[in-house]
Amino acid sequence: MNNFFDVIIIGFGPTGGTLASLLAKSNLSVLMLEKEKSLYPLPRAVHFDDEIMRVFETIGIKEKFRKYTIINKGTKFVDENNNVLLDWPRPKEVTENGCYPSYRFHQPDFERVVRHHLKSYKKFKSIQNANVTKIKNLKDFVEVSFQDTETLKSKIVKSKYLIGCDGANSITRQSINSKFKNLGFTQKWAVIDLILKKNKNLPDRTIQYSNPKRPATYCRNVGKRRRWEFALKKNENEKKVVTDDFIWKFLKPWLKPTEAIIERKAIYTFQSAIANKWQKGRVFIAGDAAHLMPPFMGQGMCAGVRDVSNLSWKIIHCVKKTHNEILLNSYQKERFSNVKEYIETTMKMGEFINAVRSYKISNTVFDQSDGSKSMKSIKPELGPGLGSKSDKNRGRIFPKFNISKSKSFDELFSFEPILVVSKKLKLKKMSNKIKIVKESSYKELSKILKTFNADAILVRPDRFILQTFKKKNSLDNLIKNNLKNFN
Ligand SMILES: Cc1cc2nc3c(=O)[nH]c(=O)nc-3n(C[C@H](O)[C@H](O)[C@H](O)COP(=O)(O)OP(=O)(O)OC[C@H]3O[C@@H](n4cnc5c(N)ncnc54)[C@H](O)[C@@H]3O)c2cc1C
Repeated sequence: MNNFFDVIIIGFGPTGGTLASLLAKSNLSVLMLEKEKSLYPLPRAVHFDDEIMRVFETIGIKEKFRKYTIINKGTKFVDENNNVLLDWPRPKEVTENGCYPSYRFHQPDFERVVRHHLKSYKKFKSIQNANVTKIKNLKDFVEVSFQDTETLKSKIVKSKYLIGCDGANSITRQSINSKFKNLGFTQKWAVIDLILKKNKNLPDRTIQYSNPKRPATYCRNVGKRRRWEFALKKNENEKKVVTDDFIWKFLKPWLKPTEAIIERKAIYTFQSAIANKWQKGRVFIAGDAAHLMPPFMGQGMCAGVRDVSNLSWKIIHCVKKTHNEILLNSYQKERFSNVKEYIETTMKMGEFINAVRSYKISNTVFDQSDGSKSMKSIKPELGPGLGSKSDKNRGRIFPKFNISKSKSFDELFSFEPILVVSKKLKLKKMSNKIKIVKESSYKELSKILKTFNADAILVRPDRFILQTFKKKNSLDNLIKNNLKNFN
C-alpha cells in the first residue's frame, strides 16, 4: 500500500463518510481509518434538513438515498394532558436549497448508501479494524499510527491533512490539545426503537411530551419504525428502565407488546459541549469530535455535515493549489457560532420538554391569531470568516435551481468559487482568475441577482454567498479583497 495520501480521515460515521465523498469526488487520494469492523447497525440520527440534503445531492447520493427517507411534517409540544403548547410545522414547499425543509431517515441506511457510493472512487481507500493510537502533526505532513484490532499489528500512514471525524471521545481532539466546554445541558434519557408489526394509528409528527413527571419524545420514523425517548428520573435504576417490562408499561398509552418489536433500547447521556480548538496546523476535527448536542432538534449529525461541507473545499483548494492558512483558519471561525446557536436552541428546547415553560426557545417563536404559539426553524448565520461583514448578503444561501432536467446549477461549482455577473459588468480583467457565469446563461440568474440587489455574486462551493457587488464597486477591488485567497 502506498502510505502517503492527500487526506486521512479518522472515523467512518456520517461526518467522515460525507467528507470522504466530497474529497474523493474532487479526485483527492483519501484514506479512511475506522476502528469498528463494520458500520454501526443501530439507529441514532433520524432527522436531517434541506441544507444537508443539498450536500447529499452534491456528493451524488440524493437519488439513491431518497427512497429511504420520508418528508417530516413537524413537531408538536404537548403538556401532561396532551394540550398543544407549541407547534413547529415544517412546510411542504421546497426551500432555497431545492429540497424539503425536513426529512426522516434511518441512520444505517444512509451510512450504507455512502459506503457503497465511495466504492466507485479508485483513490478512496478504507481500512476497518483500524484503531488510531497516535497522531504526529508535522510541519508539512501528518503521521498517523494505527493498530489492527484483530491482528494487533501496528502501521504508520501519512497525509497532507488529517480530519478527525472520530466522535465524542475523539483521539484527534486530544492530539491537538483541544478541550470540550460543557454548555450546561446534561441529562440521561432512554431511547427505545420499535418496529410496528402492523399499521397502527400513531401520530404522524414528532411529539414532545413536556410532562414534568416524565419528559418524553415520540418520533414517527421511516416505514414501520417508531421511536420513543424518555428522561430518567434522578437516581433511577438504569438497568430497570431498559427491561422489557418497564418499557411496555411506559408504552401502554400507545402500544401493546403484541403490536411491535423492540429493535433496540439504550441509555444515553444527552450532552451539550463544544471544543475550544478545531484545528492545529494540518489537523482538524469535525462532527461529534468538535461538538455535542441533545437530539431534540435532530441537528447533531446535520452539524457534522455542515462542518465538512465548509472544510472540504478549503482542503481541496490547498491540495490542488497551495496550502492557504487564511482559508483553513476560516473553518472554525465560520462554523463555531453557527453550531453554538443550534446547541443553545436545542438546550432551551430540552428545558421546555423538561416542563420549564419558557417560550424563549428562539426568536422564531410567534403568537398566532388564535392565541396558540408556533415556531419556525432557526437558520443560524455563518460566523465571521471569508468575505466582508459589511455585505448583508455574505453568508446567505445561494438558491439552487436546475439548468436541465437532470442537471443542477450546483454542479458548475462543486469545488471552486464562481462569479455570477450581470450584463452591466465588464469582465476582461478577471476572466482568468475565476470561473464566470453570465446572467444571460440561465434565466434564473436574473431573478437571483435581483433578489440580492446585486450586479455580481461571488458564490462559494458550499453554496454560501461570499460577497455581492453593486456596479459602483470596482472589479479590481473584488479581485484584491476576495479572490486573493483562491489563487
Ligand atoms: C438517540 C440519538 C438521536 C439522534 N438523533 C439525531 C437526529 O435526528 N439528527 C441528527 O442530525 N443527529 C442526531 N443525533 C446525533 C448524531 O447521531 C451524531 O451527531 C452523529 O452520529 C455524529 O456523527 P460523527 O460521524 O461525527 O460521529 P460518530 O457517528 O460517533 O462516528 C465516529 C466514528 O469514529 C470511529 N472512531 C472513534 N475513535 C476512533 C479511533 N481512535 N480510530 C478509528 N476510528 C475511530 C468510531 O468507531 C465511529 O465510527 C442523535 C444522536 C443520538 C444518540
